[in-house]
Amino acid sequence: MEIVYYPAPVLTRRATAVDFGRKGLRRLAEGMVEAMCAAHGVGLAAPQVGESLRLFIASETGEPKDALVCVNPQITVSGSPVEMEEGCLSLPGIRAMITRPSHVRLEAFDVAGEPFCLETEGLLARIILHEYDHLEGVLFFHRMTPADQMRIRGDLRAFEEQFQPR
Ligand code: ZN
Repeated sequence: MEIVYYPAPVLTRRATAVDFGRKGLRRLAEGMVEAMCAAHGVGLAAPQVGESLRLFIASETGEPKDALVCVNPQITVSGSPVEMEEGCLSLPGIRAMITRPSHVRLEAFDVAGEPFCLETEGLLARIILHEYDHLEGVLFFHRMTPADQMRIRGDLRAFEEQFQPR
């Protein structure tokens, strides 16, 4: 399973809800965990492997055993805005401080279609918010300060030249 890089159009499209009758859902989630770990990431959303589906995984430690699979997630944010450095497996090499709410309540389904709910803060909340954005077609540079957007403009152009959408 290959990670797709910016500017692949699938990354800026709103993903569609997962139908639990869909074949290969478990296989997709397992493949995503493998791809995330191979790339030393802590989260990965289905659009990042070319599937425009509302599914992401989050692993605070980057370990497969800690990977939380979230299907058709809904989030509610609270708390105060906090700044944290982020990167993205679809934009390797780019890092920036991003401000997001500190707390998140997540309601989602596992791959078997069982609902679960989680309230969290810190790194896991940060990963969930970053990955949820992927399902909305939002990339982390959309949330950077204007100064950081200016700073990474050359990097984005390099990605645009190297990874032309097919
Ligand atoms: Zn990302």
